[in-house]
Amino acid sequence: MDRFDVLLVDHTSRFGRNQAECIRYKEELKLLGKTVVFVSQGIISGSDRDFLSERINETMDEGYSRNLSRYITEGLVRKAESGLHVGPSPLGFKSELKAGTREHKVPDPATIPILFMALKEYATGDYSYREVANHLNADGYRTQNGRFFTGYNLRDILSNRFYEGKVVYHQGLPDEQIINGSHKVPEDVHQLWLRCQIIKKERTNQTTGRPRRENHDYPFSHVLKCHHCGNSYHGEAVYYKDTTKLRLIHERHSHGKQCNIMPKSRSVDSLNREFAERVLAYVNLDKGWKTRVMAVILNGGVTENKANQDQANRLSKVLENLRKQHLWGDISDGDYRREKADLERQIKTLTPDTTPIEMPNMERAAQLLNEMPALWQHPGVTNKQRESLVQEVFNKISIDGDALVTVEPKPEYAPLFAEMLTHTLNGYREFDSPPPPPNPTHVLRNPGRFRFPGGQR
Ligand SMILES: [Zn+2]
Repeated sequence: MDRFDVLLVDHTSRFGRNQAECIRYKEELKLLGKTVVFVSQGIISGSDRDFLSERINETMDEGYSRNLSRYITEGLVRKAESGLHVGPSPLGFKSELKAGTREHKVPDPATIPILFMALKEYATGDYSYREVANHLNADGYRTQNGRFFTGYNLRDILSNRFYEGKVVYHQGLPDEQIINGSHKVPEDVHQLWLRCQIIKKERTNQTTGRPRRENHDYPFSHVLKCHHCGNSYHGEAVYYKDTTKLRLIHERHSHGKQCNIMPKSRSVDSLNREFAERVLAYVNLDKGWKTRVMAVILNGGVTENKANQDQANRLSKVLENLRKQHLWGDISDGDYRREKADLERQIKTLTPDTTPIEMPNMERAAQLLNEMPALWQHPGVTNKQRESLVQEVFNKISIDGDALVTVEPKPEYAPLFAEMLTHTLNGYREFDSPPPPPNPTHVLRNPGRFRFPGGQR
């Protein structure tokens, strides 16, 4: 009804039941020109800078919501445990409520012919899901919602163990349960459904179904480099009998020169752990970071710009004289305009950049950094998300064979790392050969590499 322009939501977890739903409704609101703001997390939905935290929050919220729903639906579990089907009736069946008994499913004379036809056709082995669906539609049959049948409907029917007499609770989830149902499946339906399973299995063994590709995500891809020769590491999946291990491996082709660093590869799991222990354990900005970072940035500018400022003042006086000469008619309009433009350009380059430092961006960066250790270890965060975290914050992470040695943050994160080094990072002095004390101004202006304790062998 177009009664609002901005929707303020307390927390991402209040917006939708799962990530897919969140994305869908946000998209719809965006098309209508509405803005969604998650107030307590300070996220403007859909903005580039909040993209990462928004997605990660949605994922973690979904995990939370799944846990919650597991408790809420305990009643449904009990129902399933007593062999009663949970949810809407499968095709060919309907709900029956009789006094003294709980709701249960019985064959529905109105729709069971559709089920028969579908199972019979598929059991011949001559038709695909889609073809069977087309035949049902051509015969005038429709789904319970009055829609045309699709291949997906057939796939669902043929994977629904209800027709085998079972009740499946939370299919595909960790707490999946398969229970003998209390409903009666007509024997001919049961037999047909089982015959369809054989056809289905034969088909998947052939070329029609390709095995689903596993996700291979390497949190440090494109960022991890050899400290010795600078070569990149690339991801490789190593297949064992019943498990796949992901590793990052030193590039073999070194331009002419041999790199003797050992070992040549590291498992993704151990790198993740080491990154948490050696780097993220020190990532922490306390309350005073902002004041200190601001002070350094402002002081750094003053002395450097003193000479420039004097020069700019001189040029301003020249400009003032030029204006008077023009006023008195001593120089032509054209000359005046040309010289004025020239002087103004020079003054501008000498004047210190007074653009306010973008603190909101830095605050967001600080927030992400402070959340990073918890996010990194959160069971709901995937390696793909870890990869985006790493790529958001770091240009380069270098490894000396078996240990991470330095990190090179992106310029927008560099002042915060400098702050951590100079203020928070107490372990910094524990090095075998301590580097010169960092000059905060220098670090801020030359975002560079940062060594972490334990990073040196
Ligand atoms: Zn190397």
